[in-house]
Amino acid sequence: LTFDKLLTDKRILDGMRDAGYEKPSPIQLQSIPVGRLGMDLIAKAKSGTGKTVVFSVLALEKLDTDAFVPQARGANSESTSCVLTTVIIAAPTRELAVQITQVLNNISRHFTGIQIQTFIGGMALEDDKTNARKAQIVHLIECMALDVSQVKMVVLDEADKLMESHFSEQIKYGTILYQIPASVQKLFFSATYDESLLEKVESFTKPGAKYVM
Ligand code: AMP
Repeated sequence: LTFDKLLTDKRILDGMRDAGYEKPSPIQLQSIPVGRLGMDLIAKAKSGTGKTVVFSVLALEKLDTDAFVPQARGANSESTSCVLTTVIIAAPTRELAVQITQVLNNISRHFTGIQIQTFIGGMALEDDKTNARKAQIVHLIECMALDVSQVKMVVLDEADKLMESHFSEQIKYGTILYQIPASVQKLFFSATYDESLLEKVESFTKPGAKYVM
Protein backbone atom coordinates (compact mmCIF):
# COMPACT_ATOMS: atom_id res chain seq x y z
CA LEU A 1 0.00 0.00 0.00
CA THR A 2 1.28 3.43 -0.89
CA PHE A 3 0.45 6.85 0.46
CA ASP A 4 -1.74 7.70 -2.51
CA LYS A 5 -4.27 5.17 -1.22
CA LEU A 6 -4.22 6.64 2.27
CA LEU A 7 -4.05 10.35 1.54
CA THR A 8 -6.60 12.28 -0.44
CA ASP A 9 -5.08 15.74 -0.42
CA LYS A 10 -2.57 16.15 -3.22
CA ARG A 11 -0.68 18.87 -1.35
CA ILE A 12 -0.05 16.49 1.54
CA LEU A 13 0.79 13.66 -0.80
CA ASP A 14 3.32 15.84 -2.62
CA GLY A 15 4.79 17.01 0.68
CA MET A 16 5.15 13.42 1.85
CA ARG A 17 6.80 12.47 -1.40
CA ASP A 18 9.23 15.41 -1.17
CA ALA A 19 10.06 14.38 2.38
CA GLY A 20 10.92 10.91 1.11
CA TYR A 21 8.19 8.90 2.79
CA GLU A 22 7.23 5.96 0.61
CA LYS A 23 4.95 3.54 2.40
CA PRO A 24 2.69 4.18 5.36
CA SER A 25 3.83 2.63 8.63
CA PRO A 26 1.36 0.48 10.62
CA ILE A 27 0.35 3.30 12.96
CA GLN A 28 -0.18 5.59 9.99
CA LEU A 29 -2.39 2.99 8.31
CA GLN A 30 -4.40 2.43 11.45
CA SER A 31 -4.72 5.95 12.79
CA ILE A 32 -5.05 8.31 9.84
CA PRO A 33 -8.39 6.92 8.55
CA VAL A 34 -10.02 7.00 11.99
CA GLY A 35 -8.53 10.31 13.03
CA ARG A 36 -9.86 11.79 9.82
CA LEU A 37 -13.41 10.89 10.85
CA GLY A 38 -13.11 13.28 13.77
CA MET A 39 -13.09 10.83 16.65
CA ASP A 40 -10.71 11.28 19.53
CA LEU A 41 -7.71 9.00 19.28
CA ILE A 42 -5.76 7.24 22.01
CA ALA A 43 -2.70 5.75 20.35
CA LYS A 44 0.12 3.70 21.75
CA ALA A 45 3.26 4.45 19.78
CA LYS A 46 6.93 4.72 20.52
CA SER A 47 9.05 7.27 18.76
CA GLY A 48 10.29 5.99 15.44
CA THR A 49 6.96 4.40 14.52
CA GLY A 50 5.86 7.34 12.38
CA LYS A 51 3.46 8.90 14.90
CA THR A 52 4.55 12.46 14.09
CA VAL A 53 3.38 11.99 10.52
CA VAL A 54 0.03 10.71 11.82
CA PHE A 55 -0.90 13.83 13.72
CA SER A 56 0.79 16.16 11.24
CA VAL A 57 -1.30 14.77 8.37
CA LEU A 58 -4.47 14.88 10.47
CA ALA A 59 -3.73 18.46 11.50
CA LEU A 60 -3.26 19.54 7.88
CA GLU A 61 -6.42 17.72 6.79
CA LYS A 62 -8.30 19.43 9.59
CA LEU A 63 -7.31 22.81 8.27
CA ASP A 64 -8.49 21.81 4.86
CA THR A 65 -11.80 20.16 5.73
CA ASP A 66 -12.74 23.15 7.81
CA ALA A 67 -11.88 25.53 4.99
CA PHE A 68 -9.39 27.31 7.16
CA VAL A 69 -8.85 30.90 6.27
CA PRO A 70 -6.27 32.85 8.24
CA GLN A 71 -8.02 35.85 9.72
CA ALA A 72 -7.44 38.61 12.16
CA ARG A 73 -9.20 38.60 15.48
CA GLY A 74 -12.64 40.25 15.63
CA ALA A 75 -13.05 43.98 15.93
CA ASN A 76 -14.15 43.78 19.54
CA SER A 77 -10.92 42.10 20.52
CA GLU A 78 -8.64 43.89 22.92
CA SER A 79 -5.54 42.45 21.38
CA THR A 80 -4.68 43.06 17.77
CA SER A 81 -1.55 40.93 17.83
CA CYS A 82 -3.40 37.78 18.75
CA VAL A 83 -2.78 34.68 16.67
CA LEU A 84 -5.82 32.63 15.73
CA THR A 85 -4.98 29.05 16.48
CA THR A 86 -6.56 26.06 14.79
CA VAL A 87 -4.46 23.13 15.94
CA ILE A 88 -2.39 22.87 19.10
CA ILE A 89 0.29 20.21 19.39
CA ALA A 90 1.84 19.91 22.85
CA ALA A 91 5.10 18.06 23.47
CA PRO A 92 7.12 17.67 26.66
CA THR A 93 10.56 18.63 25.40
CA ARG A 94 12.21 21.26 23.28
CA GLU A 95 13.80 18.61 21.05
CA LEU A 96 10.49 16.97 20.33
CA ALA A 97 8.83 20.32 19.60
CA VAL A 98 11.57 21.10 17.11
CA GLN A 99 11.28 17.70 15.44
CA ILE A 100 7.53 18.03 15.10
CA THR A 101 7.94 21.47 13.57
CA GLN A 102 10.37 20.08 11.02
CA VAL A 103 7.97 17.31 9.98
CA LEU A 104 5.09 19.77 9.71
CA ASN A 105 7.17 22.25 7.74
CA ASN A 106 8.25 19.50 5.40
CA ILE A 107 4.89 18.03 4.61
CA SER A 108 2.97 21.32 4.50
CA ARG A 109 5.16 23.02 1.96
CA HIS A 110 2.51 22.78 -0.78
CA PHE A 111 -0.06 24.61 1.33
CA THR A 112 -0.46 28.35 1.21
CA GLY A 113 -1.73 30.56 3.99
CA ILE A 114 -0.92 28.40 6.97
CA GLN A 115 1.39 29.33 9.79
CA ILE A 116 3.31 26.90 11.93
CA GLN A 117 4.74 28.37 15.12
CA THR A 118 6.83 26.75 17.80
CA PHE A 119 6.61 28.00 21.35
CA ILE A 120 9.21 26.78 23.77
CA GLY A 121 9.01 27.80 27.39
CA GLY A 122 11.02 27.81 30.51
CA MET A 123 14.58 28.82 30.00
CA ALA A 124 14.70 32.46 30.92
CA LEU A 125 12.49 31.89 33.90
CA GLU A 126 14.29 28.93 35.36
CA ASP A 127 15.01 30.57 38.69
CA ASP A 128 11.49 31.72 39.18
CA LYS A 129 9.79 28.92 41.05
CA THR A 130 6.26 29.77 40.08
CA ASN A 131 6.84 30.34 36.40
CA ALA A 132 9.93 28.33 35.69
CA ARG A 133 8.16 25.31 34.40
CA LYS A 134 5.21 26.85 32.79
CA ALA A 135 4.86 25.67 29.22
CA GLN A 136 5.10 28.57 26.84
CA ILE A 137 1.89 27.67 25.08
CA VAL A 138 -0.06 27.85 28.34
CA HIS A 139 1.45 31.22 29.07
CA LEU A 140 0.49 32.51 25.64
CA ILE A 141 -3.08 31.29 25.96
CA GLU A 142 -3.43 32.81 29.41
CA CYS A 143 -2.10 36.11 28.16
CA MET A 144 -4.54 35.87 25.28
CA ALA A 145 -1.70 36.14 22.80
CA LEU A 146 -3.22 33.07 21.18
CA ASP A 147 -6.90 32.98 20.37
CA VAL A 148 -7.98 29.41 21.01
CA SER A 149 -11.68 30.00 20.49
CA GLN A 150 -11.48 28.37 17.07
CA VAL A 151 -9.25 25.44 17.97
CA LYS A 152 -10.32 22.32 16.12
CA MET A 153 -7.75 19.82 17.26
CA VAL A 154 -5.45 19.28 20.23
CA VAL A 155 -2.61 16.76 20.09
CA LEU A 156 -0.67 15.59 23.12
CA ASP A 157 2.54 13.90 22.04
CA GLU A 158 4.32 11.77 24.66
CA ALA A 159 1.18 12.16 26.73
CA ASP A 160 2.71 10.03 29.50
CA LYS A 161 5.38 12.64 30.07
CA LEU A 162 3.00 15.55 29.66
CA MET A 163 0.61 14.09 32.20
CA GLU A 164 3.20 12.91 34.71
CA SER A 165 5.62 15.75 34.79
CA HIS A 166 5.35 19.27 35.97
CA PHE A 167 3.06 19.93 33.04
CA SER A 168 0.35 17.81 34.56
CA GLU A 169 -1.45 20.59 36.41
CA GLN A 170 -1.31 22.87 33.43
CA ILE A 171 -2.59 20.16 31.17
CA LYS A 172 -5.31 19.05 33.50
CA TYR A 173 -6.41 22.21 35.22
CA GLY A 174 -4.59 24.71 33.09
CA THR A 175 -5.32 25.97 29.72
CA ILE A 176 -4.53 23.35 27.16
CA LEU A 177 -7.20 20.80 27.87
CA TYR A 178 -9.33 22.46 30.45
CA GLN A 179 -10.19 25.65 28.66
CA ILE A 180 -10.71 24.02 25.32
CA PRO A 181 -14.22 22.66 24.78
CA ALA A 182 -14.77 18.95 25.22
CA SER A 183 -16.12 18.82 21.68
CA VAL A 184 -12.71 19.62 20.18
CA GLN A 185 -10.99 16.57 18.66
CA LYS A 186 -8.14 15.30 20.84
CA LEU A 187 -5.35 12.96 19.88
CA PHE A 188 -3.14 11.31 22.49
CA PHE A 189 0.12 9.54 21.73
CA SER A 190 2.18 7.69 24.31
CA ALA A 191 4.68 4.83 24.32
CA THR A 192 2.89 3.27 27.30
CA TYR A 193 -0.45 3.59 29.04
CA ASP A 194 -0.84 2.59 32.67
CA GLU A 195 -4.20 2.68 34.36
CA SER A 196 -3.76 6.12 35.78
CA LEU A 197 -2.72 7.63 32.44
CA LEU A 198 -5.64 5.97 30.67
CA GLU A 199 -8.00 7.35 33.27
CA LYS A 200 -6.66 10.87 32.80
CA VAL A 201 -6.71 10.65 29.04
CA GLU A 202 -10.22 9.21 29.01
CA SER A 203 -11.47 12.05 31.18
CA PHE A 204 -10.77 14.32 28.20
CA THR A 205 -12.09 12.12 25.41
CA LYS A 206 -15.58 11.82 24.07
CA PRO A 207 -17.54 8.57 23.91
CA GLY A 208 -16.54 6.68 20.79
CA ALA A 209 -12.85 7.46 21.07
CA LYS A 210 -10.73 5.15 18.99
CA TYR A 211 -7.94 3.15 20.60
CA VAL A 212 -4.93 2.18 18.55
CA MET A 213 -2.88 0.02 20.90
P1 AMP B 1 8.18 9.21 15.01
O1 AMP B 1 9.15 9.62 16.08
O2 AMP B 1 7.32 8.07 15.47
O3 AMP B 1 7.42 10.32 14.45
O4 AMP B 1 9.05 8.58 13.81
C1 AMP B 1 9.92 9.41 13.13
C2 AMP B 1 10.83 8.64 12.22
O5 AMP B 1 10.13 7.72 11.39
C3 AMP B 1 11.56 9.57 11.31
O6 AMP B 1 12.86 9.09 11.13
C4 AMP B 1 10.74 9.48 10.03
O7 AMP B 1 11.49 9.83 8.92
C5 AMP B 1 10.34 8.06 10.03
N1 AMP B 1 9.09 7.80 9.30
C6 AMP B 1 7.88 8.28 9.57
N2 AMP B 1 6.95 7.80 8.71
C7 AMP B 1 7.62 6.98 7.89
C8 AMP B 1 7.22 6.15 6.79
N3 AMP B 1 5.97 6.09 6.38
N4 AMP B 1 8.16 5.45 6.17
C9 AMP B 1 9.42 5.49 6.59
N5 AMP B 1 9.87 6.22 7.61
C10 AMP B 1 8.98 6.97 8.26
